[in-house]
Amino acid sequence: MKWVRGLVGVLSLSLMAACGNEQADDVSEDNPLNVVATTSMIADLMEIVGGENVTVSGLMGPGVDPHDYQPSTSDVNTMTEADLIAYNGLMLEERFVEVFEQMDQRGVPSVIMADALNETELLDPEEGEEDLEYDPHIWFSVSHWEAVTSHVADVLSEMDPDNEGYYQDNADTYLSELDELRTYIEERIEEVPEQSRYLVTAHDAFQYFGEEFDFEVIGLQGLNTQTEAGTGDISNLADFLVDNEINAVFVESSVSPRNIEALIEAARSRGHDVENAGELYSDALGSAEEDADTYLKMYRSNIDTIVDGLAN
Ligand SMILES: [Zn+2]
Repeated sequence: MKWVRGLVGVLSLSLMAACGNEQADDVSEDNPLNVVATTSMIADLMEIVGGENVTVSGLMGPGVDPHDYQPSTSDVNTMTEADLIAYNGLMLEERFVEVFEQMDQRGVPSVIMADALNETELLDPEEGEEDLEYDPHIWFSVSHWEAVTSHVADVLSEMDPDNEGYYQDNADTYLSELDELRTYIEERIEEVPEQSRYLVTAHDAFQYFGEEFDFEVIGLQGLNTQTEAGTGDISNLADFLVDNEINAVFVESSVSPRNIEALIEAARSRGHDVENAGELYSDALGSAEEDADTYLKMYRSNIDTIVDGLAN
């Protein structure tokens, strides 16, 4: 029996390899492309651009940390059966590196969000992050996410040329919503005095946000949540809060609040009162109950939390 199964496995694999990257046949609502996405931001984007021509399975739900997420056997099986795998790249999904290579060898097509950007648009990692070549948190630049949207539309159009117009229309509609989001962000940030535009969070997810919207961003841990913040980091950052009269810091939905709580304590011991001003979504969207289950809602929720925390 094992042999038969093995043979079937080999046959279906070679079939897949033969079909890989070729045009998809008659994709429609009744015969959608089976897309597997790693993070919830990417799943959201694939659903928006692919519309009714895709069914999207997301591997990481609300609160899941992609730096640390280990793909399960069932994830690998799901990816093996995919028509398209959508992932961030830039080592965000650090523990998927070998699986991505395997899928590539099997001929399963993929779309990598970071491919939409050139190197000059990417930010360097902070010191001590030698395992990362670039900062992977590209979704927090609205401009970058626009470039990613167009890239996704192009890749879907290449796979399924009959529906190119449909994917491009979906992307165009979404690009105007991203534009409205940018206006919303800029308007709300106006409420924060310039000298108060500091965003202190659990890890360095918000550098692209800082660059695009002129905020100084300080993450207690590095870009990768697997590096622990030392007591020296907490102590230095507590001094920084005192020196710059920063009264609000933020926790993140996909990172333990422990270090931020230690930071608040360290500031307090210096006679400086700092508030935990709320939870930001960094590397995962929120749930439907939290009304943060899409990229647009997630970003608005973050901006409201940041501005309400800093604007007083
Ligand atoms: Zn991160």
